[in-house]
Amino acid sequence: MYPNNVISALQEFKTPYFFYDLDVLRNTLEQVKKHAISKGFHVHFALKANNQTRILKVIKEAGLGADCVSGGEVQRAIDSGFSPDEIAFAGVGKSDEEIELGLKHDIFCFNCESTQELDVLNELAGQHGNKARVALRLNPNVEADTHKYITTGLNENKFGINESDLDTVLDKFPDLENLELIGIHFHIGSQIEKFTPFEELCSKANALNSYIEDKGFKLTVINVGGGFGINYDHPNDHSVPDFERFFGLFEENIKLKNHQSLHFELGRSVAGQCGSLITRVLYTKEGKAKNFAIVDAGMTELIRPALYQAKHRIDVLTSDKGEKTYDVVGPICESSDTFRKDVSIPEVQRGDLIAIRSAGAYGEVMRSAYNLREANPSVYSDDLNT
Ligand SMILES: *Cc1c(COP(=O)(O)O)cnc(C)c1O
Repeated sequence: MYPNNVISALQEFKTPYFFYDLDVLRNTLEQVKKHAISKGFHVHFALKANNQTRILKVIKEAGLGADCVSGGEVQRAIDSGFSPDEIAFAGVGKSDEEIELGLKHDIFCFNCESTQELDVLNELAGQHGNKARVALRLNPNVEADTHKYITTGLNENKFGINESDLDTVLDKFPDLENLELIGIHFHIGSQIEKFTPFEELCSKANALNSYIEDKGFKLTVINVGGGFGINYDHPNDHSVPDFERFFGLFEENIKLKNHQSLHFELGRSVAGQCGSLITRVLYTKEGKAKNFAIVDAGMTELIRPALYQAKHRIDVLTSDKGEKTYDVVGPICESSDTFRKDVSIPEVQRGDLIAIRSAGAYGEVMRSAYNLREANPSVYSDDLNT
């Protein structure tokens, strides 16, 4: 919950809008620095979680690199000051144009996901006259134990190269004269709250690392991706994820050879807790079996509840009345435009201000103009009149 001076400052802006608490972001980055960067680990921020220039600037200044999944993100990373030699480019469906953009800037690494992609990248790199550095995205077949739409490391998922195809891929490399295989890459899913999937990932990664090195390849990059979850129920008590335990797990379990360094690609765990979607109650409606609080934000601003049945904490900023049970819904013409069902919050009335918490990752980036909705500018804590 925000302090009173912040709440009164938040009243000034046109709702709905995203509010970013940059102190939370800076505290989060301090922990990433302490438990990862200071130990020599490389952390790339996944721009797909949040690509606001203000946010990227703070993240870049903390010493993180960038992880991109489109040409637009590669361009945004460069425009935001990330050096090309700390940009990784992943994705199952990179277009020729996007690959060329990466080659033009001679980015750090292409995370490749299929044999056909390797052939295309090899050909385009040849035309560019520079060698492209490649990490193979391998599918470790690890169950991430998260929502089915955000698990990515199983054989049935569209991502990565399956173990059964690995030999065929490695055997191609002598013919791919414009590619340099520098590493292996994994990403098993998102919002992973348990630690066992990451332990499993470590043992799979160790085995694959040794297997490929034994074949005579020299891998310098072991990239274990992202996926570390945040606490959506208690964003105040857990505003910073337990990075000590997360990075400690990898430190303990990943076996690096002397010439190798460990890379991470974190999105949600870095940017998730610093953002809230601020919205106003437009109407309250007493239904037959339900009370509705109809707010001016909808799935167009925050689609996670509609897309993944995600539950975000709802804080009422301007009411301290007794609790009442509501369905908190948006104005969009879809029944899935519901933030929470049967949630107990202080009784609200028209005009009350609400914060939908933990919306800093996969919030604003997924905003849409459906219903011709207008996008209001975001608000940053550093600019507040407090
Ligand atoms: C989405 C994604 C990430 C970041 O995932 P988080 O769960 O936000 O940490 C990292 N790497 C790749 C390849 C991704 O697709």
